[in-house]
Amino acid sequence: MAFWGDYHTHTIYSHGKGTIEENVIRALKSGLKEIAITDHGFRHMTYNVRRMDWKTMRQETEFLKTKYPSINIYLGLETNLSSRRGKADILPSDMPMLDLVICGYHKFVLPDKLSDFGMFFLPNFIFGNTEKSSAKLIKRNTDAYIKLLENYSVDIVSHINYGIKADAAEVARACRHFGTYVELNGKRISMTDKELEIIASEGTEFICDSDAHSVERVGDFSVPVAAIERVGIPYAQIANWERLPRFRSRKEKGLYKD
Ligand SMILES: [Zn+2]
Ligand SMILES: [Zn+2]
Repeated sequence: MAFWGDYHTHTIYSHGKGTIEENVIRALKSGLKEIAITDHGFRHMTYNVRRMDWKTMRQETEFLKTKYPSINIYLGLETNLSSRRGKADILPSDMPMLDLVICGYHKFVLPDKLSDFGMFFLPNFIFGNTEKSSAKLIKRNTDAYIKLLENYSVDIVSHINYGIKADAAEVARACRHFGTYVELNGKRISMTDKELEIIASEGTEFICDSDAHSVERVGDFSVPVAAIERVGIPYAQIANWERLPRFRSRKEKGLYKD
């Protein structure tokens, strides 16, 4: 019994310590069939992938695909939720170059519009995932996630409620509607067990990722497994447990034959 893929890992191209190849080798050693390289999106102020590096990353990935044919390697991005209107820091023209699209909320991201600084980033920076977030802010954040899923073919929403507070069950319902996976993040899970229980009971599909920022952590699913066991989430609802996930953006690109 095992996880078959790790779809959220970072490299030296953003905030990670290892190279793409080191992450791939580690994934192979961990017995994974698939790995995604998903560095931080373009508008993160400190850990972003630079657009000028993308071509090199793609060339490196294509080379590694031929060097290690026994593992599927995806080159994607962990894009940033950058506005209260559900904007991510990618352009529609970026979609064809991404094998996989993760999106999550992070601090220190260039807002889409100036008003998003005052109405989205600043209040979330101050209140984060705390009880102090007002009902109005929680609603605004929830709407931002839902609009994001309407606007983009997001495959995975990373670490819901990390540094932000939204109605996680509502966000998960939207994920289910659009065919996006809810992530159980390998560094931390910011949804409460109660929220996870509700989300799981409604049939949501989760994906477990390491969110590795160092090579040794690639394929480390211990935090998600602890949550699965604690909450009693059925393994049948884990998209990368003993099976390969079917990603929304890849479905829309017609990349699945059957
Ligand atoms: Zn993240
Ligand atoms: Zn990450």
